Amino acid sequence: MVKNEVEIFLFIDALGWELVEGTGFMSEELPFRRRIEMQFGYSSTAIPTILSGRTPAEHGHLGLFRFAPKDSPFRRLGRIEPLMRPRSFWNRGRVRHWLSRIIGRLYGFTGYFQLYQMPFCKLPLMDYCEKQDLFASRGMGEIENLRDFLTRHDAAYHISDWHIGDRRNFEAARRALGEGKTFLFIYTAELDALLHRFPAPPVADVIREKLAWYREEILSLFKICADLKKTVRLTVISDHGMTPLTKTVDLKSAVEKTPLVFGRDYGACYDSTMFRATFISPDSERIIREAVKPFENDGHWLTADEEKHYGIYRADRLFGDAIFLMAPGIQIVPSDMGNVPLNGMHGFSPEDKDSQAVVLSTDEIPERVRCVSDYFGLMKQRVEEREARGV
Ligand SMILES: [Zn+2]
Repeated sequence: MVKNEVEIFLFIDALGWELVEGTGFMSEELPFRRRIEMQFGYSSTAIPTILSGRTPAEHGHLGLFRFAPKDSPFRRLGRIEPLMRPRSFWNRGRVRHWLSRIIGRLYGFTGYFQLYQMPFCKLPLMDYCEKQDLFASRGMGEIENLRDFLTRHDAAYHISDWHIGDRRNFEAARRALGEGKTFLFIYTAELDALLHRFPAPPVADVIREKLAWYREEILSLFKICADLKKTVRLTVISDHGMTPLTKTVDLKSAVEKTPLVFGRDYGACYDSTMFRATFISPDSERIIREAVKPFENDGHWLTADEEKHYGIYRADRLFGDAIFLMAPGIQIVPSDMGNVPLNGMHGFSPEDKDSQAVVLSTDEIPERVRCVSDYFGLMKQRVEEREARGV
């Protein structure tokens, strides 16, 4: 890679098109701007897509949990679950947070691991998709990830540590520039947490302040490059926007009121915006679809064509036999993710205006970059072009 040119990709979780349009975020400094189609799913789906260019159908990450009795790493936890009384204690947020850390360590997970509100009695029937650190070398197994690619190309690169906060990640990026790194992938996730609490419109002051802060940080990267007499090309990428809460539905209770037994007759994952069902006993599909009927004004069962279009279709039904997606703004409460709704949520239909992500750049963005799964190709192209020119 040419030594006096720097390529920076900055990922800002949940920086949606609507927010960027509404605030004019860095319109002068980053004049090349495009609305990007969100990756169907959550950040846990989008990150592996960004890091590999593969769809969820290819990399196998959709919801964090997956009904998979045969593949569950938690099978042995079933033995201690009956001892965990009173349940209310073990369901407290802080207890669950610490327990997540302990379980993650115990199982040697290097990826992001959180139990959320997944009931302990169901855990032995669940697999968890982020057991490995996706950013690490060979973190996605056989699939080449960004680090594998940059290492193979012998690039002088820096990739953020996702365990630490935004401030420290910008500090690390500045240090990396000083050390002569010429390809940076900076990861930031704090805007997402804020937008869950303060979704726009109207754009809350804390959100404006955070955006102003990102701008300052970006300008500081430009300044360092200028001081080092290096030209810089910076591209901001995001994975989705944020949709304000309009309504909650208790779809979980409706399914649990049926005579079906979880684990024997059916499997289920209740994410905040979608219900993934696995049908086991012969009648289970009919009974579950019947139980969900009252919610059909608030959501719909995805067709195979929709699954294919969103890159989540698997013939082996890894993600469940059927997926019921809520309409934008409507959250499933309670779900395996939480017992209370959030003011804002993502993970709705990618076509919804509040779902749209963005790419913003100092330089022209190739026409073919239209959805989240195209970012990896763009990063690859930039590395290969410079390699061809400079080395
Ligand atoms: Zn989020």
